Amino acid sequence: MSEFSDFNFAGHKALIRVDFNVPLDENFNITDDTRMRATIPTIKKILADGGSVILMSHLGRPKDGPADKYSLKHLVKHLYELLNAGKEGGNTKVFFADDCIGSQAGLTASMLKAGEVLLLENLRFYKEEEKGDEAFAEKLSRLGDVYVNDAFGTAHRAHASTAVIAKFFAADKRMFGLLMEGEVKSAEKVLHEAEKPFCAIIGGAKVSDKILIIENLLEKATDIIIGGGMAYTFLKARGGKIGSSLCEDDRLQTALDILEKAKQKNVSVHLPEDSVVADKFAADANTEVKPSDAIPDGWMGLDIGPKAVGIFNEIIGKSKTVLWNGPMGVFEMEKFQSGTKAIAEAVAASTANGAFSLVGGGDSVAAVNKFNLADKVSYVSTGGGAMLEYFEGKVLPGIKAVKD
Ligand code: AMP
Repeated sequence: MSEFSDFNFAGHKALIRVDFNVPLDENFNITDDTRMRATIPTIKKILADGGSVILMSHLGRPKDGPADKYSLKHLVKHLYELLNAGKEGGNTKVFFADDCIGSQAGLTASMLKAGEVLLLENLRFYKEEEKGDEAFAEKLSRLGDVYVNDAFGTAHRAHASTAVIAKFFAADKRMFGLLMEGEVKSAEKVLHEAEKPFCAIIGGAKVSDKILIIENLLEKATDIIIGGGMAYTFLKARGGKIGSSLCEDDRLQTALDILEKAKQKNVSVHLPEDSVVADKFAADANTEVKPSDAIPDGWMGLDIGPKAVGIFNEIIGKSKTVLWNGPMGVFEMEKFQSGTKAIAEAVAASTANGAFSLVGGGDSVAAVNKFNLADKVSYVSTGGGAMLEYFEGKVLPGIKAVKD
């Protein structure tokens, strides 16, 4: 593979796999353009070098071929605005091909001039995309002479445009874009070069979703903080009374096994000492603070309590590497957001002190955004599922294909 920053794109047609899977409202307005904005620096560098850009992406989950609802044509105007923001008169042209393969896509791609952009129609209008079909990947590959993968969000899928396509480009003609490069470098830094103490904060609803990541982190971390709904399965497994808190009874043994393994590996696992408990799962519930292992019947833990915040703060504060995945409570409701907010602030403070911090996974990213702390941590990952699988120790097909 080539290094994106070192590559001169002058005269090249770069075929970029992006993740433009953005949410649209019923009038096809983009309600969150984060994924589009994230890849603009990659596109701009290629255009600035004197190359042209062909963008391919999926949008939603179309079932039976083309459907207006999932057309990438709805994104053209906004893409144009993003590429031309701040430029007087705007001069980056954006074309749209209403297919991702075939003669029209081929012709438009071949006529593309330096500095111009072509957006292709939804890749998932073809079943072949998700099947990783070779012939389909080969057809896509004909559109450009350089392949750039900038779609970290789909790097864990072995689809035609994310993995299979790479082999149709010589090793020096395939590379990661700036977004993907940033994701891979930050994840590698945490996984393989973490300065100790290394603290992993894992939260969210379900233990079952996070078992593999915790097991992998047992090999790497100094401390593992477990918060959110999943903490109560661990607390019950240790003999605590958790009232009607979230619990996966079929994972009690798994929780005990993890705690035992941590002991053997000298990793400190920290569960919340106290919890904000509620008499119902609702924004207007009555609340109290109770020890997390002595929650009265009929009450449920919906946030970590003040003692837990103090202890977790101290651990995060002395860490040199911090990984955070998953909220500490039901932070969507104001009454139960303090714990997650305090942890976000602790991660930001630790970063200001020199720690490297990576926040990843949908809800913790939503949390740092909600508390306006995204620019106070070292890196915010855009890829939920991909990031989880990376930290589970899996090889991501989209990364392997470009590297090998
Ligand atoms: P996940 O997708 O597994 O990271 O879980 C995120 C969700 O977990 C968020 O929507 C939170 O509201 C929810 N959550 C966090 N803590 C709790 C809790 N103590 N009880 C119930 N749900 C929780």
